[in-house]
Amino acid sequence: MAHNGKLRGKYTGCMLGAAIGDAIGKQNEGLSRKDILSNGYVKDYGKAPNGCPGEKLRAGQYTDDTEQMILLARSLIKCNGFNAGDFAERMAQWGADALSDPARKALVGPSSSAAVARLNSGISWKNSGSSIPSCGSSMRAAPLGLFYSDLDEVEEKAALSSIPTHNSSGAIAGAVAVAVGVRCAIDGMELPEIIKESSARASKYDEGFGDKIVISFEMRDEEPDEMFARLGTSYLADETVPSAFYCFSRYFDEPEKAIIEAVNAGDDTDSIACITGALCGARHGIGAFPERWIKGLENREFIEHIAGVLYEMSVGR
Ligand SMILES: [Mg+2]
Repeated sequence: MAHNGKLRGKYTGCMLGAAIGDAIGKQNEGLSRKDILSNGYVKDYGKAPNGCPGEKLRAGQYTDDTEQMILLARSLIKCNGFNAGDFAERMAQWGADALSDPARKALVGPSSSAAVARLNSGISWKNSGSSIPSCGSSMRAAPLGLFYSDLDEVEEKAALSSIPTHNSSGAIAGAVAVAVGVRCAIDGMELPEIIKESSARASKYDEGFGDKIVISFEMRDEEPDEMFARLGTSYLADETVPSAFYCFSRYFDEPEKAIIEAVNAGDDTDSIACITGALCGARHGIGAFPERWIKGLENREFIEHIAGVLYEMSVGR
């Protein structure tokens, strides 16, 4: 049916959008906004320059953000819902693999590597999470908003999903904001409603976080230079997530522009663009992105397959 085809396309668009943003954004990861502006905006796939964490990756290859998002999606599929034990086990294995791979080692953030080490030493997922409020649990959270359709459930599972690696109020608020934002966009809510739900639910864990989501929306017509400086673009969840919401809000009907703005924000560009891409794809569906971005993405068919399974499981619940 046409309607179901459209909904399925939003699931695919969400996961592909995240991967596309991540794969393009990796070229600017760690660069300042000033350096990005003097190099010129990145608008398509390419190799990351020497010195960037993703320097050994191929053009069109995504980073740890998408790897963890896929891992979370596969855990949801295997367990028919979020199971913290299964997810933590997969994270521990993933971390060990990534840290022993010379091309991917530099991609694993400080919270994730500390949490992975704790999990692999036998510490329970309840106590393995880092207290650093970084964005690792935000950047991977989109599949929770795809699998669960009830917003209370999305919020609860997103908060829980952060704990094995990122057990701080800021990181938990970030995971909640992203997963809730994705679900609201899938449901076709208008922008003010999406912001209201995401900010109110994030505020339950970190009030200042929710306030920044509101600012990212209310000031969406202010220039990117001003807003990225104001919201921040570092790996902290309360910077990457509001900056992603700013790009999403500013270009609510122009997803390609939203992703390009995020890719060039500065600092944690792969994560900002990954979150922006997930939100845009959930809002607009797979048709939102240019053909060259879809065709050039590594593992595209596998990601599409995973998104399709999440769709089938979600509508069947
Ligand atoms: Mg990354």
